[in-house]
Amino acid sequence: MKQNNIIILIVLDTVRPDYLSCYNSQRGPTPNIDKLANDSMCYRNAYSCSPWTLPSHASLFTGTYVSTHKTDSSSKFLNNTLPTIASVLSEEGYQTSGISNNMWISRKAGFNRGFNNFWHAWEILQQDRYRGYIGAALRKLYLRMIYKKLTFGTERIIRKAKTELVRLHESKPFMMFINFMEAHLPYCPPDKILRQILPTQISLREIKDVNLDAFKYMTGRIPMGEEDFEKLKVLYQAEVNYLDLCLGRFFNFMKKLKIYDKSMIIVLSDHGGNLGEHKLLDHQFCLYETLLKIPLLIKYPYQEIRGESFMRVQNIDIFPTIVDELNLNGRICSEYLQGISLKDKKSLGDRKYLYAEYHEINPSRETLLSINPKFNVESIEESLITIIADKWKYIKHEKNRDELFFIPNDPLESNNLADIDSEKLWKKEISKMPKFDICYSGKNYDFDSDTLKSLAALGYI
Ligand SMILES: [Zn+2]
Repeated sequence: MKQNNIIILIVLDTVRPDYLSCYNSQRGPTPNIDKLANDSMCYRNAYSCSPWTLPSHASLFTGTYVSTHKTDSSSKFLNNTLPTIASVLSEEGYQTSGISNNMWISRKAGFNRGFNNFWHAWEILQQDRYRGYIGAALRKLYLRMIYKKLTFGTERIIRKAKTELVRLHESKPFMMFINFMEAHLPYCPPDKILRQILPTQISLREIKDVNLDAFKYMTGRIPMGEEDFEKLKVLYQAEVNYLDLCLGRFFNFMKKLKIYDKSMIIVLSDHGGNLGEHKLLDHQFCLYETLLKIPLLIKYPYQEIRGESFMRVQNIDIFPTIVDELNLNGRICSEYLQGISLKDKKSLGDRKYLYAEYHEINPSRETLLSINPKFNVESIEESLITIIADKWKYIKHEKNRDELFFIPNDPLESNNLADIDSEKLWKKEISKMPKFDICYSGKNYDFDSDTLKSLAALGYI
């Protein structure tokens, strides 16, 4: 048995790299993630291939683009024809444990495939085990009254993750997946953390009064200005800092159990978030860098590879990297995988483009119009595909004008350089790519009423 037989895969939902001090010394501080970064390979140009949770996690789990796995708003079930990281490792004899705090990433949606245990952090009683009226009443009570007040239950997740480490670390090799929702809207960081970075001219009460309903702002129901966005940025940073504190406890616990050094620890986010940039909040309706750029840290066993990389990499590369690290190449049907192992520098160097896609707006047209019947929903209701080259980024719009940006001079993507000639050139490049024609044929399911309410509170649906 190889020594490096522990894989910890951590998704920091909605965390932007530029709010971590290891990526941007002006922000943070996030000392615990920085410490992990010192032991890791830190990828400074990492991208998600989708701007939101469900398709992005499906890409991470299957190592494929959205057009391939087709898991999206209309087909919420994880494509069950593709192998996943957990299903492969489980077949290889790994114990697999999943902890999800995002309701899109659930057993109901099939994301538990390959996991021996898949724990929902938003449920006090795990549905599979406790049925009947009393179980249902307790679940409702917890979700409505308690869960939201627990700052997304991050402390509870850490406790659960530590219990899982104790249970798993002495037996077989194991893989653990954890999703943290702390940095997701609505922002409600603990006061103690918020006070540490609160600008002197703003009171705690004032900052908590800022509008946190992204869709009321984006549909024009509630106007917001630069001052409001500055407040949101402070709240968001406090959430990230608090998450950092909790992660520090988890990594220290790993060290106490003497499994930190030998583990492969992968920390990334599923997408970023808009904080007023492009007149947007949350993480929908665009494929700008604010949503697609993600932090990616990989601590290899015994810190054998570390440093920083400026290569353009994607979340679909994680699956092949794990396969490569565990020497499973010969045993895995790698023709499924569209990513490249991050240890394979030659192939990474040969990769010309990265791609990302957005095919369905979420929340739906009906929900957006129910927020503001006068909202021009046509202005955002379109599919988008982006092709990211070394310095150029082209965004193909289904209805609106295409966009072309020269990122080194225009990192905020505010100067659209697209013209007829560039459109021709880039559309030709896009046509060479894996098929981007979405046709939904996958399995689907409906949310129950409580989950619907909770997703609505998070700004979804
Ligand atoms: Zn997410």
